[in-house]
Amino acid sequence: MSPQVRRDADFQPELRKNIITREWVIIASGRSKRPSDFAGASPPLPPLPSHDPGCPFCAGNEAETPPELFALRADGKRNGPGWSVRVVPNKFPALRPDGQPEQRNRGIYAFREGVGSHEVIVEAPEHNKDLWQMEVGQVEAVLAAYQQRLLALEAQEGTRYVLIFRNRGARAGTSVSHPHSQLIAASIQPQELRMEILGAADYYEYIARCAFCDIIVEESRGDERIVLQSDHFLVHAAYAGRYPFETWILPKRHAIRFGDMTPPERADLASVLKETLTRLAICLNNPSYNFALHTAPVEEHNVRAFHWHLEVYPRLSTPGGFELGSDLYINATAPEEAARFLRECKC
Ligand SMILES: [Zn+2]
Ligand SMILES: [Zn+2]
Ligand SMILES: [Zn+2]
Repeated sequence: MSPQVRRDADFQPELRKNIITREWVIIASGRSKRPSDFAGASPPLPPLPSHDPGCPFCAGNEAETPPELFALRADGKRNGPGWSVRVVPNKFPALRPDGQPEQRNRGIYAFREGVGSHEVIVEAPEHNKDLWQMEVGQVEAVLAAYQQRLLALEAQEGTRYVLIFRNRGARAGTSVSHPHSQLIAASIQPQELRMEILGAADYYEYIARCAFCDIIVEESRGDERIVLQSDHFLVHAAYAGRYPFETWILPKRHAIRFGDMTPPERADLASVLKETLTRLAICLNNPSYNFALHTAPVEEHNVRAFHWHLEVYPRLSTPGGFELGSDLYINATAPEEAARFLRECKC
């Protein structure tokens, strides 16, 4: 957060509450941080070759990765070329499959061995097409791989949460250009998810409705935060988004698990995700971004109060001391402005 974000004396910042997690954010949008200020902010990326001989994820270099866990292939042999999507263990995993997941103590401190899985979903054999530039069918294949790995890891003993996420661009924490997503299966529930689960359960208890379904109804009353929608999905700039252009993709059908998405929904999500990422890439000049898939955790599969969704976080600003010290985020672009910009942008 830079100090010059807002100088207009007539502007009133607003505190907004996330109805799921009950976290507050400060929406402090101003003339100096209009959406168009972000476009052109990042330097253009150098063009990449379709094949990089030194890239372990490129077709033909399969021997450079650990043996594959899953692949969609029309021809060819396991761990050889011919695949369209390939899933391999991360060579430098944050968590490993073996160890003792039970919590133990070290004086007043607690620890567990870092048991779990860390996988890379290589999204295409070509090196140089990002997800938004791929054919819709290829994006759909990536989503099919997500579902397959999610279900397989959720069924594994000891898994408490599986998070699928994507880092794109240097500011989003990736060092590998080849298009890929990642997956981490952990023996603990991440705090952000716990807050969503508990918040959605509380909302359900008091109002007897799913908070996410209510968000869909509320957003559909007007269209000020809607970016786009399809038969099965609504894409909107989150009302209390922590980051400029934070965008949520919500299935219209109440469903707690991403793994239960039907093939027609998956095909629809592929085009909705491609369209959303295309708008971000074209309108904001290919920004770095992360996205994360939030689905009901393994032990909550019988609850009705969750609703899976995908959250996209463009990395247009860097959290400063205030955010890090307080966990109270300042978002310098009103979600309404972000949505209008993405809606009206000519892609
Ligand atoms: Zn590559
Ligand atoms: Zn719902
Ligand atoms: Zn979420």
